[in-house]
Amino acid sequence: MARTKRSDPHRPGALVPAHYTYVFSFSLASSEGGWPVPSEGINCALDYRRWEKDADGKEHCINGEHRPDGECCVVGLRGKGFRFARNGGPGKCDVCGAHYIHGDVWRYVPTGELLFLGHDCAAKYELLADRSAHELRMGRLRAAAAAQCEKARRAEAYAAFCGEHAGLAEALEVEHYILLDLKRKLREYGEISDKQVALAHKLADEVKNPPPADMHGPAPTGKQTFRGTIGSKKTHEGGYGPSVKITVKVTTPAGVWLAWGTAPQALFDQASKHGYRLKGAEVELTATLKAGRDPHFAIMSRPRGTVLAFPCEKPEDCEGCLRAKMGDAAYELQQFIGHQRFEEEQARRRGLFDQAVYAQWFADEAERTGRLPAADLSGRTPDYVWYRAHEGRQ
Ligand SMILES: [Zn+2]
Ligand SMILES: [Zn+2]
Ligand SMILES: [Zn+2]
Repeated sequence: MARTKRSDPHRPGALVPAHYTYVFSFSLASSEGGWPVPSEGINCALDYRRWEKDADGKEHCINGEHRPDGECCVVGLRGKGFRFARNGGPGKCDVCGAHYIHGDVWRYVPTGELLFLGHDCAAKYELLADRSAHELRMGRLRAAAAAQCEKARRAEAYAAFCGEHAGLAEALEVEHYILLDLKRKLREYGEISDKQVALAHKLADEVKNPPPADMHGPAPTGKQTFRGTIGSKKTHEGGYGPSVKITVKVTTPAGVWLAWGTAPQALFDQASKHGYRLKGAEVELTATLKAGRDPHFAIMSRPRGTVLAFPCEKPEDCEGCLRAKMGDAAYELQQFIGHQRFEEEQARRRGLFDQAVYAQWFADEAERTGRLPAADLSGRTPDYVWYRAHEGRQ
């Protein structure tokens, strides 16, 4: 087929950059590390689509709106009576004919005609565009794709590591705070050390096959660090005023031994957010132990330590449990904007960004500016906030 020689003013070699003004930028759908990144600037109806709940709690999808002049996206331009250059279109450059993912719309000032240009071509002809708004929205989409990709990668690494270590996956499912922590570490880093694998098996075994409750084992002596459960708590009147004594039950494969002594202040400080319940709490203590009246009984002197887990019956109503689960910043954000609003914000972004990171950003921003960025929690701005929160972590 014979090619007609181009005589239009946009052909390479004839193009005069000063004759063009920038309209907007767009990107076709692409992929980021194998994960799809949606198009941007092609159709506002999709780009600014949002979901809203009606009075009955039913979710409705509300399409985004175009700018009245249509100069907002490729679909918006249609039906507005614009003249278009004839050599290309969205995805094919009007100047050089090359195919592209990232493009601009430019206006040829002498005739008002609109052109679709690839970003590379625009740069080549020194057509200078301010694409910051487009870049920002693309950054958000890429970050979301990257987050999905990272999630998938971590899940694969987790499964692969468990595949190489027989029984590990099952051991990590056993309920124990250390196993929970090891599981989180494996999720995060894709591997744990041989020592940690061995510990996981040992703990899972202990939980599944506990020694009989009444079987006593020998209590150690000297300086020791041990984990156990607070069995009783009693206030004693002594020469220096009242003090609180605790008995800690330590379970070992060889049997149970007991440690008795003054409760460290740090335990009360922690318990203050859990309704001061110490009985049944799991603690880790370091103390010097002296043999007591029975071989399985030790007396602690100057114990220090922390509570590892509280026996709260309703952790969902307990400030301390919620803070431990959500992180301080997320908890305070939830208190500030209300539970329902927090859930909504979270639901809208589920799977995109980490709520704790967002809450931390929110808290930092509040501290920096001296006021809470509450206005950012309505409309479309939160997406930007979440994006920033996510970005800030990298
Ligand atoms: Zn539009
Ligand atoms: Zn081109
Ligand atoms: Zn609690």
